[in-house]
Amino acid sequence: PATLVWFRQDLRVQDNPALAAAVTRGRPVIPVYILDDAGEGRWPMGGASRWWLHHSLAALDQALRSRGSRLVLARGESGAVLRDLIKATGADAVYWNRRYEPAVIARDKGLKAGLDVEALSFNSALLFEPHTIRNKAGAPFQVFTPFWKHCLTLAVEEPVKLRGGDLPSPMSWPRSLELGALGLLPKIPWDGGFAAAAAPGEAGAMSRLKQFTAGAMDDYADRRNRPDVLGTSALSAHLHFGDIGPRQIWAAVKATTKGSGVFPPNRGAQVFLSEVGWREFAHHLLFHFPHTPEAPLRMDFAAFPWVQDSVKLRAWQQGRTGYPIVDAGMRQLWATGWMHNRVRMIVASFLVKHLRISWQAGADWFWDTLVDADLASNTLGWQWTAGCGADAAPYFRIFNPILQGLKFDPEGDYVRRWVPELARLPAEFIHQPWEAPMDVLASAGVTLGRTYPHPLVDHGEARDAALAALATIRRAK
Ligand code: FAD
Repeated sequence: PATLVWFRQDLRVQDNPALAAAVTRGRPVIPVYILDDAGEGRWPMGGASRWWLHHSLAALDQALRSRGSRLVLARGESGAVLRDLIKATGADAVYWNRRYEPAVIARDKGLKAGLDVEALSFNSALLFEPHTIRNKAGAPFQVFTPFWKHCLTLAVEEPVKLRGGDLPSPMSWPRSLELGALGLLPKIPWDGGFAAAAAPGEAGAMSRLKQFTAGAMDDYADRRNRPDVLGTSALSAHLHFGDIGPRQIWAAVKATTKGSGVFPPNRGAQVFLSEVGWREFAHHLLFHFPHTPEAPLRMDFAAFPWVQDSVKLRAWQQGRTGYPIVDAGMRQLWATGWMHNRVRMIVASFLVKHLRISWQAGADWFWDTLVDADLASNTLGWQWTAGCGADAAPYFRIFNPILQGLKFDPEGDYVRRWVPELARLPAEFIHQPWEAPMDVLASAGVTLGRTYPHPLVDHGEARDAALAALATIRRAK
């Protein structure tokens, strides 16, 4: 009898404990992927994620075929599909790697109990699984620094190696859908810029990691906040879909020490690993506070007087707020499915503070448009920005989008790239075109209100209104 390996967010061959265990079991291995939207609860994958998934599945199938195997594709309720496959193939075991979203945990638990074959799950996605980490009082951590300090006292496992050679295959393969039949690619081609920005799949992830550890990593501490340079790893979607695992990242950083014994080898590597730590923290929070994708962790924020304004929300989504750094970020997101972390913080802050539109509306938009949309990290990012999450930036600290632009995109190159209608403005005005003298605007071909919008709100007024809104929940407390 065969072993089914149920792939989910672990779309790789190496460092895949479920696959490795199935191979070790010594029976034929049947790799399966099931598209199960209902199993994701309120959070079925958004459009951009589906684009990534399509290409990542294609890459996984190719990698499996190079080992004499293949990926069986199905669609439907996971339990029913697995039971059908067990019947069709005579498999007597199902192995998979764990996920941590509340709806998925509940589904997997029920499914495990309902299968009458051996069902084993493994850890492939995290360095430190949430159920294994507690503070001294036995409670979950809610502040990053002590969380990460604690984690760093624990051992990180080595990646699981799958040796070369063919995977043991069944005599005959069960029926599979064609990849195209999953309908993951957009019907309207809005994905033109995606492929140029990323190469989904295991090979793409490994080459990205190699490039980063040999290059930008050393300067990461200084350059990670600069959206105008390629200063970060751009591994987030690879990590989300499991094209790569954090243990492989850890091992690759370790390998750069070349046996010097100094780990992490420099400040860049140390800060980079701590960002990978934020991803761990995000999963810790989601696991222990499963209501947070929908509701604030800090309950006083449940009464925050958010504004409903579909016109302003639309302007934000489309990158037409009149604040160049905000618009550049939102357009980068639309064009490539990814946005730089500093700019994510700026655009998120603009939505929840300058426009006072709820963080949930922002999180929903990111969910649909990010290729790396991840329930844990997206929830943490939005609640952090809105001041209502664990270890969050206080709501009263309001980013000034002009100063943020001048500081982190000092030459304006990032804005020039994504807001081309401002490209000919000199650096001193590119983050505040309304301050430019008429002749400067004219010679740059900019007419405010026509070629580029006037600011949607005035920074000072918006700031005052945000603080006044905050005061209402403070008073209510
Ligand atoms: P690097 O700087 O190279 O970092 C390496 C890895 O560490 C990343 O790939 C990512 O997995 C992890 N990481 C880095 N920063 C964070 C962070 N703040 N929180 C959690 N993990 C982090 N990240 C997502 O993966 N999915 C999301 O849906 C998501 N939504 C976000 C929403 C908001 C409002 C904000 C402010 C941040 C969000 N982030 C999200 C976190 C962060 O912006 C991205 O992980 C990062 O920009 C990815 O780029 P990178 O791979 O080059 O990161």
